[in-house]
Amino acid sequence: MEIIEMNENNKIEYISEIARLKKKKNAIILAHYYQTGEIQDIADFTGDSLALSQKASSNDADIIVFAGVRFMAETAKILSPGKKVLLPDMDAGCSLADSCKAEDFIKFIEDNPGRTIITYVNTNTDIKVLSDIVCTSSNAVQIIESLPESEKIIFAPDRNLGNYVVNKTGRDIAVWNGSCHVHEEFSLEAILKLKEENPEAKIIVHPECVLPVRMIADFIGSTSALLQFTKNDNSKSYIVATEPGIIHQMKKANPFKSYIPAPPKDSTCGCSECSFMKLITIEKIYMCLRDEKPEILIDHDVLLKARKPIKRMMEISEKLGL
Ligand code: SF4
Repeated sequence: MEIIEMNENNKIEYISEIARLKKKKNAIILAHYYQTGEIQDIADFTGDSLALSQKASSNDADIIVFAGVRFMAETAKILSPGKKVLLPDMDAGCSLADSCKAEDFIKFIEDNPGRTIITYVNTNTDIKVLSDIVCTSSNAVQIIESLPESEKIIFAPDRNLGNYVVNKTGRDIAVWNGSCHVHEEFSLEAILKLKEENPEAKIIVHPECVLPVRMIADFIGSTSALLQFTKNDNSKSYIVATEPGIIHQMKKANPFKSYIPAPPKDSTCGCSECSFMKLITIEKIYMCLRDEKPEILIDHDVLLKARKPIKRMMEISEKLGL
């Protein structure tokens, strides 16, 4: 791929070229909430992984540029096999998805027989193929509660979200031991110190965070739920324990409130930002739209198998009015 040095002038040129190419090629850009603010601002839709996949399948674009990570672009392709789905950087993986390898997961299933396999959408396609139902952090609790109480469950890959749903539902769940490097890194001590300095701030936390951080939360929810909470709640200040990209949307919705990113354990590493998400840049979006690559390609049979548990989630969610 041609490397072009970035400055403010050519960034403006890229943005106008992206707009021209989108129109010419009937393309749309979907951006996850963890992307940079400037990418969220040029996107046609922003949202969490599920909302974006639903957008991918419910519009008439021929090309989808997914400003997010690989499992999200794959989910969009699974739900919209007739569309060309492009991911501006194929190295945009996910530490959580990669913490669950198919060969190890097959062994885990064999060791825990007779259980319904529920996997978080943050998995690679080969794990979706092995699943009965996919879920997101917005609907995991409700999906599990929709099943008969006697049903035994496997939940993968996030151990923190898994423990959260075990506590919420009281169900018999075997939890896979995976995690996200961003959400595991928040420092309880640093958050408590921030709270001391900002006693009026509410602590809002993603369920992928570790238990001690969840225990001090005023509100726990998915990225979309955290955003919605700051819109409806009447506090003026929040300590936000998830990837700080979401703060861009919070500020847009309520610019006069203050949003303090929760600090990671190592204050010098910047590791509360998802390094995979941040691989996507304006110039990579431009080049991928121009060259129509890299493209997400999934074997047809694999795609059909991976589609089943996602469709099952959508059916249950629709029934529950989620
Ligand atoms: S924030 Fe965590 S779960 Fe989300 S894409 Fe990055 S590594 Fe994966």
